[in-house]
Amino acid sequence: MQTALADFIRNSRAGSEADAILRSCVHCGFCLPACPTYQLLGDELDSPRGRIYLVKQLLEGEPVSARTQLHLDRCLTCRACESACPSGVRYGRLIDIGRALIEERVPRPLPARARRYLLRKIVPYRPRVRLLLKLAAAVRPLIPAAPAHPSPTLGPQRPPAWPPARHARRVVLLEGCVQPDLAPRINPAAAQVLDRIGISTVRVAAAGCCGALAHHLSAHEQSRAEARRNVDALWPHIEAGAEAVVFAASACAAMVCDYGQLLSDDPAYAARAARVSALARDIGQLLAAQAGALRTALGEAGPAPPPVLPLRVAFHAPCTLQHALRASGVIEPMLQAAGYTLTTVADGGRCCGSAGTYSLLQPQLARRLLRAKVSALEADAPQLIATANIGCLTHLRNGTALPVCHWVELIASRLDGG
Ligand code: SF4
Ligand code: SF4
Repeated sequence: MQTALADFIRNSRAGSEADAILRSCVHCGFCLPACPTYQLLGDELDSPRGRIYLVKQLLEGEPVSARTQLHLDRCLTCRACESACPSGVRYGRLIDIGRALIEERVPRPLPARARRYLLRKIVPYRPRVRLLLKLAAAVRPLIPAAPAHPSPTLGPQRPPAWPPARHARRVVLLEGCVQPDLAPRINPAAAQVLDRIGISTVRVAAAGCCGALAHHLSAHEQSRAEARRNVDALWPHIEAGAEAVVFAASACAAMVCDYGQLLSDDPAYAARAARVSALARDIGQLLAAQAGALRTALGEAGPAPPPVLPLRVAFHAPCTLQHALRASGVIEPMLQAAGYTLTTVADGGRCCGSAGTYSLLQPQLARRLLRAKVSALEADAPQLIATANIGCLTHLRNGTALPVCHWVELIASRLDGG
């Protein structure tokens, strides 16, 4: 693609990067069938190729409007287009640059600004999330439209105990901002599975949100500050020999994998951020690399009790696992090795509509994607749905009567003989 960047951006770092990305796109359109918003809306401007063109216009100094912003907002940043693109176009990075620029150029109406501000100021902070959840529970009975019986959770409500650090091999786990309160059993379940294969998991108290939420809202200074805080919190553990930085939420893993790029222009943090990114793993990636040890632990756990297994499980692979971390297909063999029967799920590469804050900011599109995803997941008569990211998990729970859990809870349950 030919480009002629405007003076305001031409010689900047973001400009050079965006220019290289734009030039790598050959307009072939192979990405269009992979794009959920193009599939739903049928408008070229809601496709990857159309949005690339809109960002090009923006960078070339052509007029942009609220309409341009809407088409960029409607993108889920699911990056399915990147997986489909034969030319290796780094669409995710380009849309980040485009969104940050349009945020400066096109002022949003006050209610939209307030909504985005509140999301940035509440969701990344655990005490605020906890307070909000308490308030939501208190007012739920007063809201007629609120589901009276949300999708049931699985097993005991109390989180399992965090195993003591007894192994020489250690990893650090970033707990995330919303996960410990929305689904408190996931992180301890991950630590228990790692403990059973000889790896201790250390929680990092001083860490917080990975920065993904602010990043998706184009608040890049906030996300960079959150990344720096986490690098500072993780560094002593890395120096002490932690072999990986692990996450039981694939979106957080994907974000931290980008810290190196995010802080590459910060001399005080660039090297350490790159090291943190190199060590960042989703729990699925980490366990898949230890498949032999996991099989041994499952073998030692003995045969599963017949009334419980084989349990039919529909697995939803989050976009961050498939398209950002490029770790498709690593989790399913582990579930099968643990005795679960995986059901067939059509169109497995398609986003469920959660996509960070998308379900809150684009609720109608998110609901349509949720309906399509749930019907694909339920088609082969599963008994429960498993996924690998807290955002997908909570979003899916709003669309199904089946239990929805994190897949690592199923492995932990099986290791416990359940
Ligand atoms: S598939 Fe890649 S090269 Fe082709 S239009 Fe889409 S982004 Fe451009
Ligand atoms: S990131 Fe997802 S929604 Fe956005 S253009 Fe690519 S495929 Fe479409």
